[in-house]
Amino acid sequence: MKFHVLLSPIKIGTMEVKNRFVVPPMATGLALPNGNPTEGHITYWAARAKGGYGLLIVEATAIDPLGKGSPWDEPGIWDDKFIPAWKKVTDEVHKYETKIAIQLHHAGRQTTHDKIEGQPVAPSPIPCPVEREMPRELTTEEVYDLIEKFGDAARRAREAGFDAVEVHGAHGYLIAQFMSPYSNKRIDEFGGDFMSRMRFPVQIIKNIRRKVGNGYPVIFRISGDEVVPGGRDINDSRLVARVMEEAGVDAIHVSCGVYATTQYIIAPAAVPPGFNVYAAGEIKRAVNIPVIAVGRINEPLLAEDILESGKADLVALGRESLADPELPNKVAAGLTEEISPCIGCMQACAGYLFDPTKPNISCLVNPFTVREGELTIEKTEKPKKVMVVGGGPGGLEAAWVSAKRGHEVTLYEKENVLGGQYRIGAIPPTKQDILKAIRYYITMGKKYGVEYKTGVEVTEDLIAKENPDVVILATGGVPLVPNIKGINNPKFVKAVDILEGKKEVGMNVLIVGGGMVGVETADFLGEHHHNVTIVEMLPEIAKDEQDAVKYFLLERLNKYGVKAVTGATVKEFLDDGVVFEKDGKEERLTGFDTIVLAMGAKAYNPLEEKIKGKVPEVYVVGDAVKARKALEAIEEAARVAIKI
Ligand code: SF4
Repeated sequence: MKFHVLLSPIKIGTMEVKNRFVVPPMATGLALPNGNPTEGHITYWAARAKGGYGLLIVEATAIDPLGKGSPWDEPGIWDDKFIPAWKKVTDEVHKYETKIAIQLHHAGRQTTHDKIEGQPVAPSPIPCPVEREMPRELTTEEVYDLIEKFGDAARRAREAGFDAVEVHGAHGYLIAQFMSPYSNKRIDEFGGDFMSRMRFPVQIIKNIRRKVGNGYPVIFRISGDEVVPGGRDINDSRLVARVMEEAGVDAIHVSCGVYATTQYIIAPAAVPPGFNVYAAGEIKRAVNIPVIAVGRINEPLLAEDILESGKADLVALGRESLADPELPNKVAAGLTEEISPCIGCMQACAGYLFDPTKPNISCLVNPFTVREGELTIEKTEKPKKVMVVGGGPGGLEAAWVSAKRGHEVTLYEKENVLGGQYRIGAIPPTKQDILKAIRYYITMGKKYGVEYKTGVEVTEDLIAKENPDVVILATGGVPLVPNIKGINNPKFVKAVDILEGKKEVGMNVLIVGGGMVGVETADFLGEHHHNVTIVEMLPEIAKDEQDAVKYFLLERLNKYGVKAVTGATVKEFLDDGVVFEKDGKEERLTGFDTIVLAMGAKAYNPLEEKIKGKVPEVYVVGDAVKARKALEAIEEAARVAIKI
């Protein structure tokens, strides 16, 4: 497959971009509390520049301390003091003939007082329905002051070596709040009719032009559709694009959603690839400047098709660039089967973004991402004989990374097929992209010489016979079957056996356990027209699913009429149901044809104790340590593989 358009250059204003691959702005969590970029920014952006992306757009960067909105420390550009640190980032990127822009940002009401040490500001005193803090209405004078601040920030960006700026008018932040009738109820010159609501972004562009001149490229980002009642739809956005072209922007970058609809800003696998391309196409028909499409563009063929069919001029690969910083180089070299795929799981990107215990984003499939300065795959000086036990995600990752380093690696899997629980996890609706990740790991392993032995159960004797230097135990977990009266009924089935097609299921199904495995099994059975009820001990089902994933999952369960009894502790299993306790009262759920057990998992680690002291190095990773998710298994495996 040739990717002629993707690999061809394009001009945004005066800036020539070597190809059509863009890395869009994504909050990384790498900035210091004072807003300065760090060494982490340098290595993160250098990896994508080296990987062949034509244009990089640095994450939302505050033009004013009151405009910070990131869950982490947001980088800043509100003062000249930031220029030297940003210059280090742009200098590094320019070594690879890649262009770099920075996104100028003010969150407006989509923030909280703890992030900005003050009350949020907005066009009107209407709270964001997600952040739910009453903002202070900006005075007219303050609005003019902010227009100056955007212009000053652009001037600093140019001095710091950025090739362009992107003005953040998307996702419901301050500029979008001014443009939207949903949040702008002003009666001064910045409110009222459409053109008055557009006065704020138009004046920002004019101010930027005054401070950086006509030749400096300015991109404007909008949400084509805000997907909220009373918000802006694509027809209004076409008018916005026309006005902004007239105001002097050089390109329009078309995203989607506001905070109330974050499931479209960062869309999970339930949302089809390229779901937002239609919006870019609509904007493109309205303007004569380049348009950048974004939103689950996760395969080069899709990207090429978007460009060839004239729906956009450039494609922004956000999470795909987290999964694979080298994607453009691989496309150019014809190595598309070596692309590390974004599977839309949301776990280490959006999942970490909203998890206060995590320092920055990363990627489930590629744990090296955003940790480029910390985790590197170096050639080993002492090649070792490595036995990897288990062909699930942890084992597969450990194997290919170890082999890439130059070790002699054999991976053993007791089943006849690789993938472990991860392969089964790909079976429920919307999860199929997991298979792409499994195939990717196998491809990379084969490339670096991993020998895969399937259908082989590793024993102490086999390890003694092979005499390896290193054993990595990635034996995974097994379903948990707690000691509850009646649970050992041979009629009962395990969720994994249903997903694998090993067991028949009756029409009326009771799933015991509403965690990830239980709800995804319910999704699978609901899609196949079974009547499903879930009984769960916690107050809610799907508690361990990421928010956006859960949004669409619950929508489907609702559609299938899946019932959930929560806060219910099962006390006894009956032949056709359960006895449970809820709010101190004992109740029964009966009349089911099939009872499905999805009550969690426990570690399966039968070899560690037996081989300790007999093999020079033994490591245990993933569920074999403690039952968790593939996310932890892959990261632990990578960390072991780079140190052996
Ligand atoms: Fe994609 Fe999942 Fe990686 Fe996020 S964590 S970039 S959704 S594969």
